[in-house]
Amino acid sequence: MKLNGAVFILALPFASPALAEGFLLSSPIDCDLTSDCYIQQYVDSNPSPAASDFTCSTLSYDGHKGTDFALPNRSEIARNVRVLASAAGRVKGVRDGMADVSYSDETADKVAGRECGNGVIIDHGDGWETQYCHLKNGSVVVKPGQDVWQGQELGFVGQSGKAAFPHVHLSVRKDGKTVDPFDPDGTTTCATPGDSSLWQTRPAYRAGGLIGAGFSQGVPDFDAIKAGTADAKTLSPDAPALVIWGYLFGSQPDDVVNLSITGPDGMVIADDVTLTKAQAQSFRAIGKKRRGKGWATGTYTGTVTLIRGPQILSQKTVEIDIR
Ligand SMILES: [Zn+2]
Repeated sequence: MKLNGAVFILALPFASPALAEGFLLSSPIDCDLTSDCYIQQYVDSNPSPAASDFTCSTLSYDGHKGTDFALPNRSEIARNVRVLASAAGRVKGVRDGMADVSYSDETADKVAGRECGNGVIIDHGDGWETQYCHLKNGSVVVKPGQDVWQGQELGFVGQSGKAAFPHVHLSVRKDGKTVDPFDPDGTTTCATPGDSSLWQTRPAYRAGGLIGAGFSQGVPDFDAIKAGTADAKTLSPDAPALVIWGYLFGSQPDDVVNLSITGPDGMVIADDVTLTKAQAQSFRAIGKKRRGKGWATGTYTGTVTLIRGPQILSQKTVEIDIR
């Protein structure tokens, strides 16, 4: 800073909350973020009506004040994946008893003012607070005033409140203001991604990927994919078609999805699909209609690969028996 021609160096202990107080977070979800679950949305770091995550990419939406740790589909709610306190503190508030439903414009009225759904707020002292949203109905196991340790179970991942997919939304606040745990100092820019973070172990940033893949005997409904019911376990030789699908998050224009099916008699079908727009979630499918006497019996292998530029972002391989 320059005043009256002289140069002063600012020596105040200015805002670097992570360094200043040693407040650090652990994961709020008990699953492997590289395989069993993933981060769908980050804090919106863009003050304009456009949204961007801390890397200046599209994994956010306008005004989003937290990080969404997601399960691959609604059927996974039944697995009772634990939501964990990201730091030690005292429970400030809880809510439970709201149904796990898929949020839509039609159901918006039912959750107005209670968008967090079943949730927990923890006070960590020094103005730090974390909030956990969309927990499974009936799963919250802590009470207001209770002290919790880092990693203590709070409940299970669900889809209560304003949630379009099953996930736990983690909000982090300091003196009531939203803090992005991936950019606590707000110093990240597109040109300088930076590595400051509030995480003890910072989750790797995944710029998009495959949430799931499966076989079916026709192009599935998107809702069946989101529900976890689209994936056929076996098919018969007279199935009308053999379809392989891939369920994506964070797609970008010009991404390529390669899908293929190989059966006991060799390649059944393979194709590249080029994507045209950025989408939070989407799916692509290719397939082949049955001809003549039907499908040869045996094991079929399906592979779905998401490719961005020269890089393979994500790949899943699935198998099905036709018998
Ligand atoms: Zn959220």
